[in-house]
Amino acid sequence: MVETVKIIRFHAEKCRGHYDCEKACSQVQFGDDTGGDHSAIRIVKSNGGFSMVNCDQCGLCIDVCPVQALKRLPSGVVTVNKELCIGCMSCVAFCPVDGMRRAKGMVYPHKCISCGACVRACPEGALELVEVPISEVERVVYYHQGVCD
Ligand code: SF4
Ligand code: SF4
Repeated sequence: MVETVKIIRFHAEKCRGHYDCEKACSQVQFGDDTGGDHSAIRIVKSNGGFSMVNCDQCGLCIDVCPVQALKRLPSGVVTVNKELCIGCMSCVAFCPVDGMRRAKGMVYPHKCISCGACVRACPEGALELVEVPISEVERVVYYHQGVCD
């Protein structure tokens, strides 16, 4: 049974909006450094600073996929199997934290695989790869949905 997973933690107070994380992620996802919608991680301006939008590896989308193309790996990370995916984008529409991405013109969705490339790219140390219990990421999603206090 998978008990822990690595996720990206954002330290908003350190972010200066370089977007190097987005460029690194688009390199991982599509082999380019265009960032933007080719990146799984997104840094957005909020309240005079920045916040991160990214997959929490909660796995709630797994049950939404009609063809079982989403699964949690032994590492805990949730992945898209492109051999099975039919591009219906149900997972993109469902994800409560906007962690499942659709890049313009792409048939399949993409998402964070907790590789850590964004962490290494950030010159400010604003991102961290941390290992957490699966129960904790499930709680994060409930929080986003407004279910928890
Ligand atoms: S886009 Fe692919 S992975 Fe997502 S729900 Fe549809 S078939 Fe499953
Ligand atoms: S850990 Fe890897 S896949 Fe996830 S957001 Fe960072 S660069 Fe992208």
